[in-house]
Amino acid sequence: MSSPSTEKEIRGNIFNIQRYCTHDGPGIRTTVFLKGCPIRCAWCHNPESHDFKSEIGYNESSCIKCGKCIAVCPVHCHTVMDGKHVFDRANCIRCFKCVEVCPSALEKIGKSVTVQEVLDEVAEDKIFYKDAGGITLSGGEPLSQAEFAVGLLKGAKEMGITTCVETGGFVGYEVFEKVLPYVDLFLYDYKLTDSGLHKKYTGVDNTLILENLFRIDESGAKIILRCPIIPGVNDTEEHFSGIARVANSLKNLIKVEIEPAHTIGDMKYEQMGYGRPDLKYGVPDSEEVLLCIDKIKKYTSVTVKKS
Ligand code: SF4
Ligand code: SF4
Ligand code: SF4
Repeated sequence: MSSPSTEKEIRGNIFNIQRYCTHDGPGIRTTVFLKGCPIRCAWCHNPESHDFKSEIGYNESSCIKCGKCIAVCPVHCHTVMDGKHVFDRANCIRCFKCVEVCPSALEKIGKSVTVQEVLDEVAEDKIFYKDAGGITLSGGEPLSQAEFAVGLLKGAKEMGITTCVETGGFVGYEVFEKVLPYVDLFLYDYKLTDSGLHKKYTGVDNTLILENLFRIDESGAKIILRCPIIPGVNDTEEHFSGIARVANSLKNLIKVEIEPAHTIGDMKYEQMGYGRPDLKYGVPDSEEVLLCIDKIKKYTSVTVKKS
């Protein structure tokens, strides 16, 4: 394949473009979800974002057992036995022939697109942005597709569109250096204060994530700290005071946003063939969320709100 001759021809893999979003930064936004994440949060509700390559989602309850997938699969991943469809992904070569013939149950998750194709779609929403809205890159970890992300952000700025990046922060600082000139606001995850627990629940410790956070702050980047609250994992006094400590140390922080746990993504694990997540946790009600916010506020004068 020849290399792209302009930044607008750079390709990336995305799994969704969501329009009219009101929770992914200021105003009304178009959120582009980039595929692939280098870490694994035990509570993640976007398992379809994990793999950097396109993959298959399978919704068992929508399968009508027509057998069309069996006929086209070159490596025999699909069978129908005793009236039940069995999808064994072990040998799947991701040719997506089965998706093309399936009337109802199979879906390709992920799409290779150019920067220009995404910007063209975003441009259609420009009328809704007014002063505050714009494009948000999310994922997955959008900064893991660094060149694509730079192309999108730079292109948006050239179109006079404001930019947000939602990031877990687990990428080399050289990526932040590349995107910094084109990002108006970072929505930066802060998941766990205890580095050992961070490794236990995400697969990596929080050293790099915190280093990057303080370095982008030092460079003048605007930041909203996004803190998921997962009962039994990080709803502790130690973490609440830790959030406040980080917030108090940042020079360019706008506010802290609390993101209460939910279980909307649980079904998706089975549809992606990953099995159900091991971690079981409750969903905090609005009173418990307010209590968490009050506990953080004991240690800081920074604004702390539910996202
Ligand atoms: S083609 Fe789709 S609906 Fe038909 S058996 Fe295969 S998965 Fe089920
Ligand atoms: S993507 Fe291709 S290899 Fe994989 S299950 Fe479908 S037809 Fe078979
Ligand atoms: S960083 Fe985000 S996308 Fe990646 S595993 Fe964690 S919650 Fe999921």
